[in-house]
Amino acid sequence: MNGLPQPKPSVQAIAPYVGGQAKLAGRAEVLKLSSNENPLGPGPGAIAAFRALVGGNAGAGLHRYPSSDHARLRAAIADLHGLDAARVICGVGSDEIIALLCHAYAGEGDEVLHSAHGFLMYRLSALAAGAVPVAVPERDRVADVDALLAAVTPRTKLLFLANPNNPTGTMLPEAEVVRLADGLPSSVLLVLDGAYVEYVEGFDGGLAMVEARPNVVVTRTFSKIYGLGGLRVGWGYAPAPVIDALGRIRPPFNLSDLQQAVAIAALGDQAHLDRSRAENAQARDWLTGALRAQGLAVDESHGNFVLARFAEPEAAIRADQAARAAGIILRRMDGYGLPEALRITIGTMEDCRRVADVLAGVSEGQGT
Ligand SMILES: *Cc1c(COP(=O)(O)O)cnc(C)c1O
Repeated sequence: MNGLPQPKPSVQAIAPYVGGQAKLAGRAEVLKLSSNENPLGPGPGAIAAFRALVGGNAGAGLHRYPSSDHARLRAAIADLHGLDAARVICGVGSDEIIALLCHAYAGEGDEVLHSAHGFLMYRLSALAAGAVPVAVPERDRVADVDALLAAVTPRTKLLFLANPNNPTGTMLPEAEVVRLADGLPSSVLLVLDGAYVEYVEGFDGGLAMVEARPNVVVTRTFSKIYGLGGLRVGWGYAPAPVIDALGRIRPPFNLSDLQQAVAIAALGDQAHLDRSRAENAQARDWLTGALRAQGLAVDESHGNFVLARFAEPEAAIRADQAARAAGIILRRMDGYGLPEALRITIGTMEDCRRVADVLAGVSEGQGT
């Protein structure tokens, strides 16, 4: 047979992930509030570790492969959270853990459930594995446990739930997450994505549930509150058989020694986390109030962003354009089926004031 090489149809069906925009034409400085990054950046401990590694004798050791078993990083994670290091797996962001889970557990014809406005990578990773992503309706932008359970079929292999959820910012109470886990067949893997758990005081994101159940996995990341989105480190905590399966397909040497060392240093910097959580909560509460006062609909957010909903998609587009004209990049939500909404990452208090001022100008201009 002749013809060009053809990727699998399931691969051709994927629309690639588009990250938050970082630049505006003609502007040297922008306020990027499109990717839920920590406005404070990484903590001093992580920066010092990075400097120590790339400074001094830069280049030394670059010919050596890194530790492939991530033993020190896993031990540091396990120490901090009181976990069994043997059941921690580290990846290139939690995105890699999500992808490994899909590849290990879902194949052609299998179903992967997620709530309607769940993180896009669930859908993309399911498709990449050849599986069928199933979006389950929510109730007022909150995951609906009854609907999720009703959507389970004999082909369901995985259920992804981010709690708090991106991009809605909403959260399921722990009792509801337990009800979901109780109602699922034990053959379905429940993945609790904890990308934003550190923003919720005293919440472990379900790590204790992993200890008690054979089919619950938790994923975590250094990209959000740790301020290390550029480092690309995430991890998962799972029952031993799941760790065994993921370990068989995880690429060896997926994390450089630099990534591992900076992540370890970040774990030791609790003060930076506490400060980031406190400042985020204060600025988020202020921005939520300011936007509601302008007549926008804003759910209570438990993460480091808010979802502002406008009367119609055109109003969201006008607001987005006004923000861009002022050098501020927000995130349009068309890809999430929320064309009337903008997701706004919580920056510093000053950043939030700038956003509120720009959006106030747009709504005032509408009446005239
Ligand atoms: C940001 C985010 C992630 C983390 O991605 P990384 O690959 O760890 O940078 C995972 N899940 C959700 C819901 C997120 O918003």
